[in-house]
Amino acid sequence: GVCDQAPAVLADGRLVSRAVAKDYEEWLAAPADRTDFLLKGNLRWLTARIGQIPPLDIAAYQSAGGFEGLRKALGMSPEAVRAMIGASGLVGRGGAAFPTGIKWDGAAQAPGEPKYVVLNADESEMGTFKDRVLLEYDPFASIEGMIIAAFAIGASYGYVYIRGEYRKAQSILAEALQLAEQYHFLGDNILESGFNFHLELRSGAGAYICGEETALFESIEGKRGFPRIKPPFPTTHGLFGQPTVINNVETICNVPFILREGVESYRSTGTEKSPGTKLFCLSGDVRQPCLVEAPFGITLRELIDEFGGGLPAGRTLQAVLLGGAAGTFIPPEQLDLRLTFEDTRQAKVSIGSGAVMVFDDRRDLRRVLVNLAGFFAHESCGKCYPCQLGTQRQLEVLERFARGVPVEGDAARLQDTGWTMTDASLCGLGQTAAMAVLSAMEHWPHLFGER
Ligand code: SF4
Repeated sequence: GVCDQAPAVLADGRLVSRAVAKDYEEWLAAPADRTDFLLKGNLRWLTARIGQIPPLDIAAYQSAGGFEGLRKALGMSPEAVRAMIGASGLVGRGGAAFPTGIKWDGAAQAPGEPKYVVLNADESEMGTFKDRVLLEYDPFASIEGMIIAAFAIGASYGYVYIRGEYRKAQSILAEALQLAEQYHFLGDNILESGFNFHLELRSGAGAYICGEETALFESIEGKRGFPRIKPPFPTTHGLFGQPTVINNVETICNVPFILREGVESYRSTGTEKSPGTKLFCLSGDVRQPCLVEAPFGITLRELIDEFGGGLPAGRTLQAVLLGGAAGTFIPPEQLDLRLTFEDTRQAKVSIGSGAVMVFDDRRDLRRVLVNLAGFFAHESCGKCYPCQLGTQRQLEVLERFARGVPVEGDAARLQDTGWTMTDASLCGLGQTAAMAVLSAMEHWPHLFGER
């Protein structure tokens, strides 16, 4: 979660950003890093409080508009809250881009009690660090969004499932949950509305696959994090087999804002089909890697030049990887691509989690691909063969290309493996494990020439 500060080192439990020193003693002696991210943006909705108030000051949170959305929601009917989220056009920010209102309606209307809400805080996508910042610096926003979601679908219990490596976020959230309970925002009879909601924290143990919603449920249930076959979908058969809403951290942080400011305000920025703002994680070869909040519709060029300060001196752009390890490469000619769900869909790419990784002319993309493929080969859970075997074979072929020793038929083999994984894998991990490779093969076929 610190891809903007690479190379980052954990020395005796302390984060050392941009650890250029080679010596461990030097890392220990480095001055403590006060801000572990750089926040930028031209419209600060989700990040308005970050850096402005102490994260665990619940009074300051309320003075800055916190819990106003919840108070409003509790004065409405659950149906009206759901209708508002539907009308806002809010779309999930975890990568799948599913309309939040439809998801909430599905779980609310599904037969079966109890219902659950789950916060997917298992942010593990390469190059993504937005949810970590939201959780560590504005934890009550996620909690408020969860309470509103629970009220809207009729859930009395919820879980926050947080990435195992996010220890700092875990301890902040644990304290925030306690405070929220103490101040009667959680528990029985919330704000004397008669509504009860209990929210618990669960930690992952380092598996990327547990960010997949059904593997995440298995993990909470105390089982091995294996994805389930879908359908049935979580809205009818989710956690413990019950109707469940599962939302990503950034998605849920939009909810209090929409309730507080209204649908019209929310729709005043972005586009018709992608309203609101988006957090982009800018990392790699830019002068200032940073977290950017900007309205949907911003272009990659604007992100890189205006917020990232452009490329390092004397360097030219080779490629951008949009959406993390499961994303696709964008060549320099397509930098004016507008980052909206509809524009990226039309260009056959995906915003994914909002990761924007920049590679200049010094990088060997074949080495980059070996890194990505190694990640998937390691994280594949092994439940289905296309992905279990495909991720291994993909890595082997890419290693041969990177070492300059491909064997005859390797380019076709790589493509075939990629297509098979995409079409035949059981879950999103295998279905996207070849995206970056296939897009690189399309844009730069000369990198995959055989002898
Ligand atoms: Fe597991 Fe990969 Fe199959 Fe998903 S696609 S179930 S991660 S083996």
